[in-house]
Amino acid sequence: MIRFLDIQKVTASYDPELQEAVEAVVRSGRYLRGEQTAAFEAEFAAFCGARHCVAVGNGLDALTLILTAYKQIYAWDDGDEVIVPAFTFIATAEAVNRAGLRPVFCDISPVNFLLDTVLIEPLITSRTRAIMPVHLYGTPCAMEPLKDIAARYGLKLIEDAAQAHGAALSGKRTGNMADAAGFSFYPGKNLGALGDAGAVVTNDAELAARIRMLANYGAAEKYYHEMLGLNSRMDELQAAVLRVKLQRLDVDNGHRRTIAGRYCTLIRSKHITLPKEEAFRNSVWHIFPVLVQNRTAVQEFLRTAGVETLVHYPLPLHHQQAYAADYADKSYPVAERVAACELSLPISQVMTEEEAERVAEALNRYEPPMHSDNKNTAL
Ligand SMILES: *Cc1c(COP(=O)(O)O)cnc(C)c1O
Repeated sequence: MIRFLDIQKVTASYDPELQEAVEAVVRSGRYLRGEQTAAFEAEFAAFCGARHCVAVGNGLDALTLILTAYKQIYAWDDGDEVIVPAFTFIATAEAVNRAGLRPVFCDISPVNFLLDTVLIEPLITSRTRAIMPVHLYGTPCAMEPLKDIAARYGLKLIEDAAQAHGAALSGKRTGNMADAAGFSFYPGKNLGALGDAGAVVTNDAELAARIRMLANYGAAEKYYHEMLGLNSRMDELQAAVLRVKLQRLDVDNGHRRTIAGRYCTLIRSKHITLPKEEAFRNSVWHIFPVLVQNRTAVQEFLRTAGVETLVHYPLPLHHQQAYAADYADKSYPVAERVAACELSLPISQVMTEEEAERVAEALNRYEPPMHSDNKNTAL
């Protein structure tokens, strides 16, 4: 079976350094707010090309803390609005709610599945405070048009970089493309911990200082609480793991590019729509998304052929039960079509080219059932 992501193999591939790093932390007796976290913050900020990195508990907290801190600094009101894509992992929008703000969904582009820049301006109201694009599937969003809109309307621009560690555009890495960025190091991400972890990356010193306090019970100095905060810290163990894996991140992303390249060369099926080369050129391929008409049938066919696939994501945000009531009258046609047709092929830093070839061969053998429309009219 070719697994969607063989995470045991991923972890083993960093040994013996990973085991040694973990053992050193266990022996050190220091498990929070120690030298591993401080070193990771310095190294990840430098990697992104940004001035500050604040390590936190997970990706959702990173995004929530950015919004909460800006809300305090600029005195935004409860219910003020943040524009987010209608198609992303729910954390992007949920962070907005958790900060006491309101997510306003915007449809995505059918070409690169990212926030469709031309649809943003009509959504801006007197209460809009920020735009939060997502570098979905590992593809960095083009920031110039977004920066232009943000500047004209006085909005903050916040990257959800949870799927795009190390991706770059015009010489700038994610994390250094906007006012602030939230990263997740969930185990399956391109840079993944052995549990939950996240980070805020920014060049804004005031924002970083406030987030550092908020994430530690509102205290800069132990037991002196300047404000009410929460507990969202990165474990020393996770910081040590991430430091080992960060050293190989560019190489790992390069390997993902190789696998994606094999797929693009070898998959030759009229039933499969491949990601557009032009649109995905700068991707670090967190996900390799294809579009198919008969998704359940294709998934079942591949399963029988020994290939595990997943779907990212089966529902757009406005169709999630958690949001359905508030967005009942809204429709985002591209988000809906991608949610209906997307299929994620196996990809990782440890998948072999030979495995990618077997996936492609299996897909090329797929024929839809006789009665169904055998043209791919996905988009
Ligand atoms: C993974 C992810 C997050 C949240 O990360 P957690 O660490 O699981 O909280 C946020 N946004 C996107 C787009 C993600 O893929």
